[in-house]
Amino acid sequence: MKNSTRKSILTLIALILIIPNIVSVGVLINQSKMQRQIDKIAAEVASMRMDSFAETGRITAPRLEGTRLVDLTVFEEPIDKIYADDDVIMVADVPDVAETQEAGYVWSFASGGSLDTHKVYLTFDDGPSSRTDDILDILDEYGVKATFFVVGRESEEDYRLYNRIVDEGHTLGMHSYSHRYSKIYSSEEAFTEDLDKLTELIQDATGVTPKYYRFPGGSSNTVSSLDIHRFINILDERGISYFDWNVSVGDATGIPISADAIVSNALSGIEERESTVILMHDGQYKKATVDALPRIIEALQSMDDVEILPITSETELIRHIQ
Ligand SMILES: [Zn+2]
Repeated sequence: MKNSTRKSILTLIALILIIPNIVSVGVLINQSKMQRQIDKIAAEVASMRMDSFAETGRITAPRLEGTRLVDLTVFEEPIDKIYADDDVIMVADVPDVAETQEAGYVWSFASGGSLDTHKVYLTFDDGPSSRTDDILDILDEYGVKATFFVVGRESEEDYRLYNRIVDEGHTLGMHSYSHRYSKIYSSEEAFTEDLDKLTELIQDATGVTPKYYRFPGGSSNTVSSLDIHRFINILDERGISYFDWNVSVGDATGIPISADAIVSNALSGIEERESTVILMHDGQYKKATVDALPRIIEALQSMDDVEILPITSETELIRHIQ
């Protein structure tokens, strides 16, 4: 065989081996282009203001150049409810359930409950107490996480309760060591001493460093003769964030309140707010609160678009005094 013929055959074989690879790389590039377009739509949809969504059930978004809106028809269910004209995508009568199939997440983003959810934070002040176990049992039964703003108590039983709160995934926040207004608000030194004492107690008991605080009486309390900002600064220095509440169930005072009243107070206005922090109490004399708790949770869980969450760094800062 001539040298040139052999060369040609070898080249041909090489090409046969290489071409499919080139083609498949091309396909991959194309696919990732498509994915980028889908991502673009998703980002666009995500960036839209959703204000009118609750009222109209409709979302409009600018049509993106170079994207084919027919791609949206991959959605299994509500094809007839998605339509497009020259410059908008319209999504009407958004259903609850969204498919997650390919490209479907554009739709799921548009229809996801997160657009219009109401976040609810159950918070319990003043524990641990002889009722903490009951509260934790109820939360566990309903699969709900909450937040406990605790005070300083040092018995073996209290240590167990601090740990149970942490172990079961709830947020353990601070509510001062002594809860004695006259003491903690008397000076910055007194406040700091009380804060550090509780921080160390919780660290010692649970190994967790608490990051959240609720002022006894709230940040708007009228007990402190010093400006509350002086104490807020002390929390800031330690990277501790404080939370007040925008709903009180009314179980704070010594005046007895019925479980019925607690339930109706707790549920007032939930759907009008994006975030609701509900103030409740964990105490020996707060049986009505424990009785009300399953009914509060059941009612919240039966509402559309309501999520019950523990306080985290993501939580909107509900504060009386900024
Ligand atoms: Zn309190």
